[in-house]
Amino acid sequence: MKRYDVIVVGGGPAGLFAAGFAARRGAQVLLLEKNARCGAKLLITGKGRCNVTHSEDDPRKFAEFFGRNGRALLTALYAFGVKEVVAFFEEQGVALTVERGGRIFPQSGEARDVQRALESFARDAGVELRTSCTVKQPLIEDGRVQALETSAGLFSAGNVVLATGGLSYPETGCTGDGYAWAAASGHRLVPAEPALVPVHLRESWTAEVSHFNLRNVRVTLTVEGKKVDERFGEAFFTSTGIGGPIILDMSSRIREALKQGKVKLLLDLKPAVAIELFDKRLQRELAEHSNQDFGNSLGSLLPRDMIPVFLRLVGIDPRKKCHSVTRTERQRLLKLFKELELEVTGCEGFRRAIITSGGVSLQDIDMRSMRSRQVANLFFAGEMIDLDGPTGGFNLQECWSTGYLAGINAAIA
Ligand SMILES: Cc1cc2nc3c(=O)[nH]c(=O)nc-3n(C[C@H](O)[C@H](O)[C@H](O)COP(=O)(O)OP(=O)(O)OC[C@H]3O[C@@H](n4cnc5c(N)ncnc54)[C@H](O)[C@@H]3O)c2cc1C
Repeated sequence: MKRYDVIVVGGGPAGLFAAGFAARRGAQVLLLEKNARCGAKLLITGKGRCNVTHSEDDPRKFAEFFGRNGRALLTALYAFGVKEVVAFFEEQGVALTVERGGRIFPQSGEARDVQRALESFARDAGVELRTSCTVKQPLIEDGRVQALETSAGLFSAGNVVLATGGLSYPETGCTGDGYAWAAASGHRLVPAEPALVPVHLRESWTAEVSHFNLRNVRVTLTVEGKKVDERFGEAFFTSTGIGGPIILDMSSRIREALKQGKVKLLLDLKPAVAIELFDKRLQRELAEHSNQDFGNSLGSLLPRDMIPVFLRLVGIDPRKKCHSVTRTERQRLLKLFKELELEVTGCEGFRRAIITSGGVSLQDIDMRSMRSRQVANLFFAGEMIDLDGPTGGFNLQECWSTGYLAGINAAIA
């Protein structure tokens, strides 16, 4: 049985980083990945554009995005934070660009460039990449991983890094294998939940308008009529409801709210204009189209595909002349623009979750080195740890930072 200094399980962003940096420190490293290629999930990140990190480069402020567990990330962020990630990708030939909301993407707009750069980084550092190799289980004795049982036989190493990801988007190879191994070797698990998910709505018309973005909208979350959250930004309708960054970021709150009562989202399509001013705008539009059919008067206010839906929802005969639209009818129209009511019926599960919340408890990891507190030569990195941030590049940054820290520490014999 060939023995390595370090074996990394999982060829996602966290695993590739851990393996590459362990090898750069002089360790002999093997990376085992069950898919035919590394980074299957990376390819679908950021709608195929990969939001690699976020421009907030102050580690303390960055950590706050991870809620109460965020402080645990500080050592990793100080060791390899946003600035280092940006420099790393530039060094690998992937130029980056900062977009709206501080989201950082490759200039090429191609997640594939990030995936390729990571793979060559690991190879160039000397990592032996073994794909199509499934780890079945770590064999643990005397508080140490003695070997890894895999579909290609047994492998052993001085140190082992687990970076097998969570449970979201299982078709990318993420089936929570690492959670079971961690639990079996005495680590506490915080129950895994799908996080950053789109939500289902009672309204079926969303399917008709599921192809365009709702940019700069405001969404207010209410439970039993009481406002509990509000977000401004980008969303989009889906065939079964609504998704997009602001909805994903609110989804944990929505899941909670569903346990408390009737949950509604109020969508403001024109948040920059106060309701009274927008009413004036409607009056002007109706006056300008005074002798035209109401059905032809909404062109400057709505994307074309949305108009038939609005006409149905507002309940005004589209052949009615604009000058005969009554005040009550106009008020109904105003409400659609400023407070479009959507009833939430549920949240998506792991199948369409951007990440998994929960995972290996921080209490069982020394977050200054990513070393397990239960198994002496075991390290953790990436999504499988109990840390989850909002959309915007935060979750990949967590992978880069924890992957780096696990890698350099695992490289120490
Ligand atoms: C649709 C989508 C879009 C996203 N967009 C963004 C974004 O733009 N920005 C952002 O910051 N985050 C984004 N994320 C989240 C981000 O992709 C994850 O946080 C990140 O991929 C987690 O990396 P990881 O290395 O921990 O795990 P993963 O990327 O899940 O990699 C784990 C790897 O381990 C392998 N593996 C698992 N079990 C075994 C085993 N038994 N043997 C061998 N190999 C195994 C898997 O095949 C997989 O390749 C997105 C997620 C999704 C689903």
